Parts: sequence; structure tokens; C-alpha cells
Amino acid sequence: MNETDETEEEGVSNFVRDVVRGDFSSGKTKSVVTRFPPEPNGYLHIGHAKSICLNFGIAAEFGGRCHLRFDDTNPTNEEIEYIEAIKKDVTWLGFDWGEHLYFASDNFDKLYGFAVNLIEQEKAYVCDLCPDEMREFRGTLTKPGKDSPRRNSPVDGNLDLFARMKAGEFEDGKYVLRAKIDMASGNMNMRDPVLYRILNASHPRTGDAWHIYPTYDFAHGQSDAIEGITHSICTLEFTDHRPLYDWCIENLPVPSEPHQYEFARLNLTYAVLSKRKLMQLVSENLVNGWDDPRMPTISGLRRRGIPPEAIRDFATRIGVTKSDSTVEVELLNHCVREYLNKIAQRRLGVLRPLKVVIENYPEGQTEEVGAINNPENEASGRRMVPFSKVLYIEQNDFMEDPPKKYYRLTPGKEVRFRYAYFITCQEAIKDVAGNVIELRCTYDPETKGGNSPDGRKIKGTIHWVSAEHAIDADINMYEHLFDHPNPGVEGDLIDDINPNSLTTLTGCKLEPSLANSVVGEAVQFERNGYFAVDPSSTPDHLIYNQTMAMRDSWAKIQAKDMSAGK
Ligand code: ATP
Ligand code: MG
Repeated sequence: MNETDETEEEGVSNFVRDVVRGDFSSGKTKSVVTRFPPEPNGYLHIGHAKSICLNFGIAAEFGGRCHLRFDDTNPTNEEIEYIEAIKKDVTWLGFDWGEHLYFASDNFDKLYGFAVNLIEQEKAYVCDLCPDEMREFRGTLTKPGKDSPRRNSPVDGNLDLFARMKAGEFEDGKYVLRAKIDMASGNMNMRDPVLYRILNASHPRTGDAWHIYPTYDFAHGQSDAIEGITHSICTLEFTDHRPLYDWCIENLPVPSEPHQYEFARLNLTYAVLSKRKLMQLVSENLVNGWDDPRMPTISGLRRRGIPPEAIRDFATRIGVTKSDSTVEVELLNHCVREYLNKIAQRRLGVLRPLKVVIENYPEGQTEEVGAINNPENEASGRRMVPFSKVLYIEQNDFMEDPPKKYYRLTPGKEVRFRYAYFITCQEAIKDVAGNVIELRCTYDPETKGGNSPDGRKIKGTIHWVSAEHAIDADINMYEHLFDHPNPGVEGDLIDDINPNSLTTLTGCKLEPSLANSVVGEAVQFERNGYFAVDPSSTPDHLIYNQTMAMRDSWAKIQAKDMSAGK
């Protein structure tokens, strides 16, 4: 059985929870403090959502707390815009860091003090090798490294140089501060790693105060210790950094002793989850910004109409493991449909309209038919929808020469118009090119409400909108952004972009109650799927985004697997 089959929280692997539980029962931990540590160099994506749900989820489960800490140690890529976007996304996902908003840059003074402390202990030194030499001196996996010529230089000289690095006396790259650990270590991260580098760059928060910036490896663990983090949870690529993490904690007068735990990052089919690649899509205008509904960013998912509840459910179902795997995007879609099915109001909306005239319906008459708002939730009640002589139906709900088992509108056959009447098509009117442009139909007044008066069976039910009362909308229809399940793996990422990922339908016809729709509200257009108002929509120009089509391929795959005994 594959791990995603398990939907109950208890059954899903989450080894971090087991670790924390163990730490509580052994007395190692009295309270749990976690953190989510984004680098503000782009918008968050669904992979980050996995980490957010894990970190905030563990804290909540064990009565602890989770900090939001910006890892802002690399001023050249970082922007305030990203900080604000990240805060908005975490909040929208349903998590609250309370008073515990931190920045690695808050700790710059303390980190500098720790670096000085290492120099004084003769555990760090200023190195002047150029990048090429540095690479050469590092050695390889099979060859030990060589000592830097400055490795054993006296403390005073190092203190002086480090202070002058800080004061901005040198150009970028002239010196670095390195930890003095082991140039022969089998772990390359332990071969005198760089702790500080010179960057004469302005920082979004500290401005021009600093000319040196700590590396991730030096800033991260010490920030964890300063904040009292107990479980520092990160992705597997940091496993080889853990010995360095521990070395710093052991060798510095830090106020607490955090531990690092690594889990497998989320990979998702038909998507890329790397800020660098997402940035490329944005900067090359291959999508309409970070929040383009085709993007796997939190802001893109939100704009598409995907609710935070579905993302949290997805995060629970995928579990937390120690081995890398790729999750099928159908599982996410399944979570979205399952949630929206429960909460979304049903409405009638025609995406590709075809005009229908009911010839025997009185001219100028309008009547209201009662429609169910959500069959999954009786409390959501009913609404009235106007019905009249001229209506729109979907173009593909009519066929002149239908194949077998086509139960929609065809000449001479009766079909149910949802909530209204039984309708029979009498004639299809065509333009000169032979396209059907209008249907002439009749209705049976005895079938009001769509009920059969004499037990005659009607197989097909289709939706419709009254022409006179319809409101117009543009609807953005989406497919996967990439047409390859592992985009960029076999070639250039850009070549895998699906040219049909966005189709905008104009002149869609919606029932009038949708005039008051608001951003963030999920709606199901019956038979067509789930839709959400785009934030750029105005009352005069309604724009919807397709959140999810109706079909549930995930459920189908599951059913097939089950019947195949997988
Ligand atoms: P990207 O690869 O998208 O650039 P990143 O690791 O550089 O991501 P950070 O801002 O450093 O992005 O990530 C913040 C936190 O989110 C880190 O703890 C990181 O391990 C975690 N994270 C990033 N990507 C994923 C992912 N795909 N799945 C799970 N967690 C992730
Ligand atoms: Mg990172």
C-alpha cells in the first residue's frame, strides 16, 4: 500500500512526531519549540507549506510554539516584498507565530560575538585564499584537503583582520572567516567551512551597517539556540551539515542546545518546487507573476481558489518521511475537491453558451425555480433561479448525431433542464458554415421542478442559464503549467511548458445570484467544477478562475489500484 492511501492522521508516517513524543517521555524535552525559517528571496510554494504544517503542527500538538524566522543572511537576493508575502501566506494557511517573529539579522551582533569567541579559542581564522584556491585546497571526497596558509595565524592578527572586515576596509571576497575543524574530514562541510564572507551590500533591514554576513551554516544553528528552539526541522539536503551544526553548538557559549532533524522535501508531479526556477518563470514572463493560478506557490493556489484547509489536509496525508519521493498532483487535487464538495455553494454557469429558445413558453414570462445550494449540507438551503423563454446551455450538451449513451440534448429526445422542465429539441439552426448557433425546443409544462408527472424516465439532466437574467463573465481555464510530469528533468524546463496551460473563455453566462460573489469564496458551477473570483475582478467585469475540474482522476486511480489488488 502506498503511504498516501492512509487518510487518518494516526496512520500517516510522521517520524518527527515520534521523535518529539520520545523526547517528552524520556524527559529530554519539557516543551517543544520549532521554527519555520524561510529565506525572503521569493514567494512560498506548496513544499514550504509541508514544512509550515509540520513545524506549526508539531508545536500545536505538543502545546509548544513555532517561530517564524526569516533567514535573511544573504542581502543580495532579499526583498521586503517577499517578507510581507511570506507572512501573508503563513497566516492564510492558518498558522500564527504570535509574538515570535524573528529575523536572523536580529542576531547579527550576537553572531559576530560568537565568531570573535571562536577566533579567541583558536577555532576560527581569517583566510585569504581566492575562490579557485579555496576549491583546490578543499580536496575531494577521495582526497583530503590542504591547510590554508593562514590556518595557524595568531589570534590577535585574526581578531584585527576580522574587525577590519566588519568595518568595510576590504572589497568583496578578499577574506573569509573559517572555522578550524578538520581538513581531512570525510564530510566536506567540516573542512574548515566558511562562517563569514565580505559583502559590501545593503541589507533590507540593517541597511549599510554590515560589510560581512554570516553563512547559513553559522547563522542558522546559533539563531535556533538564541531563540530556544528545541527541534530544528529541515529538509534532507542538510543532513551532511548536521555535524557542523552540532560543532558550533558545542563550541560556543550558546544559551540552549537545539537539535536538527531532517525530513524529505515535497516533490510534486507537473510542478517545480524551487524558488530559483519559479523566479525564472516570473522574471521571463512565462506566467503572470508569483501568484499566477498555475504556479505551485501558496499565493497562486490561493488565487486559484484552493482553500487552506485542503492544503493542510494534503500535508497531513503525504506524511513526513526520511526518503525522497514525488507525490502525484492528483492527490492535492483530490484533497481540494473533497473539501470544496463539502463547502462550495452550487450555481448554474454556462462556460461555452449555445442559445436555446423554448417555442411554446410564453413570451416575456419569467418564473423562479427552486435550486439546492449544497446537497452535502442541508443547512445551506435553497435559492430561486429565473427561468424564461430564451436560455443558454453548454455547446457540448447538444449533439445532432450523438453516439450511443449520449443522454444530453439531441433532436427529438427529451432531457431534463435542472430544477426546471423536461425539454425536447425540435430543430437546430445553423450558420452558413454549418455550425449550430441556436436550438428550437419545446417544454412540457407538466414537468415543473424537473419531475416526471407519469413516471417517464429521463436519463440526462443538463444545466442552463436564462439569457435575459444571465451575467457575463470571463473564465480562466487551467491545465498543468508543464506537460511533463517531471518538468526540466529530461531537458530545458522551458521546453516542458504546456502551451495550453491557460485558456480564457469570454462571454460565459452565469446565473444572476453570482453578481455578488466575493474573492475567496468557493463555488461549484454544476457539472463544470469549482471556480473562484479572481482578485482583479470588478462588478462590471467579472473574472473567475477555474479551481478544479469536476472529474476526480485520483479517486479513479485509487479505485483501479484497489481492484488490481495493489
Ligand atoms: P527552494 O528550494 O524552493 O529555494 P529553500 O529551501 O531554498 O527552497 P527556504 O526559504 O530556505 O527555501 O526554505 C524554508 C524552509 O522550507 C526550509 O526549512 C526548507 O527546508 C523548507 N522547504 C523548502 N522547500 C521544501 C519542500 N519542497 N518540501 C518541504 N520543505 C521545504
Ligand atoms: Mg534554502
